[in-house]
Amino acid sequence: MKVLVINCGSSSLKYQVIDSDTENVLAKGLCERIGIDGKMTYQATGKDKKKYDAPMPAHRQAVELVLKELTDPETGVLKSVDEIDAVGHRMVHGGEKFACSTLITDEVVKAVESYNDLAPLHNPPTLVGIAACQELMPDTPMVGVFDTAFHQTMPPEAYIYGLPYEYYEKYGIRRYGFHGTSHKYVSYRAAEILGRRPEDLKIIVCHLGNGSSVSAVEHGKCVETSMGLTPLEGVIMGTRSGSLDPTCIEFIAHKENMSLEDVMTVLNKKSGVLGISGVSSDFRDLSEAAKEGNKRAELALKVFSHSVIKTIGSFIGVMNGVDAIVFTAGIGENDHLTRLSIMSHFSYLNIKIDPYANELHGKERIISTPDSDVAVLCVPTNEELAICRDTVQIVTEKKVEDTVKKVIAGK
Ligand code: ADP
Repeated sequence: MKVLVINCGSSSLKYQVIDSDTENVLAKGLCERIGIDGKMTYQATGKDKKKYDAPMPAHRQAVELVLKELTDPETGVLKSVDEIDAVGHRMVHGGEKFACSTLITDEVVKAVESYNDLAPLHNPPTLVGIAACQELMPDTPMVGVFDTAFHQTMPPEAYIYGLPYEYYEKYGIRRYGFHGTSHKYVSYRAAEILGRRPEDLKIIVCHLGNGSSVSAVEHGKCVETSMGLTPLEGVIMGTRSGSLDPTCIEFIAHKENMSLEDVMTVLNKKSGVLGISGVSSDFRDLSEAAKEGNKRAELALKVFSHSVIKTIGSFIGVMNGVDAIVFTAGIGENDHLTRLSIMSHFSYLNIKIDPYANELHGKERIISTPDSDVAVLCVPTNEELAICRDTVQIVTEKKVEDTVKKVIAGK
């Protein structure tokens, strides 16, 4: 099957076409500045990258342009749009309704819409992207793969906040968790690399990127995660504060004469390692600045590691042990010093890091020594492949179901 994987942001659309038989990426790219002016990037595997300005007043025009590039006689990878067998959409918030990926129907769209107030920045652009794809490929099956789904196995003691219970019942205020597609892919892949079954392992996944989250995966199921009602909770991040005393919000609003919305913008966009350092949200810039003696950049890196250490430590308690700790995403995959500074706090568990394996780049690997009591791994995440796999599974199941129905109906 050829699967188009789409990941819509408010002004962007990332895409890949994957051949599910070989799991090779045939082409990929990015539409940026949708609704502003429009920038298109397209790359067929093995060919030069194209980048150009193109008007994209809305997501519909972006999808149109993607399909045009994919079927371009010279650089395209498809003869016609009909060669796309299915579209997999990354969906951010599926609330409590979606514990797994699902075929997109009108009812599904309505249900996702009902979660818009829980993910006002993420869900509406996804729905716009789905509508655009449905308009241009009306007969192609579409599947939604939710960031929240993998975390739906958490027990109530992990997802209920210490708030009046009616708020959970009336408004669905609870911990949902995010990056679920990545946490699932990475934990299952780590088990494979270790030659074990996920069902036999207690794994902690550290997805450390611009947005960072940690999860505890026991016997293949998520039992705890650091992000909450929204992706603002948990460890400190590039520009997000992570967890803090809620009184800070009232205090900042009062002292800085800010509205609630303004304070939330500060917590989402101007906090985290950027806020502490005043330098950057990017760990490469922070390391450079720290090397040059910038004390606040050094402090930001320390606060980040500290918050991840605290989270890992508490999740070991939640699972009453750990067999493997896995690092993924931009920082988790690339920043060997941050990995080392985090893992050095777990020497009490007889975790030993192999410096050579730790400093390698980009490959799936075990970075702990063979005599370490807990395995530590680096596993590059691949959310697009995970979305493609789920899409193929669901579309295939649907085809089988339809065939069985036809046979029963004697057609
Ligand atoms: P997103 O959450 O946007 O998907 P990524 O997972 O791509 O983010 O992570 C991006 C972040 O990863 C960058 O902001 C930077 O902090 C970090 N990063 C990327 N490459 C490196 C590197 N070589 N060394 C240290 N940090 C890196």
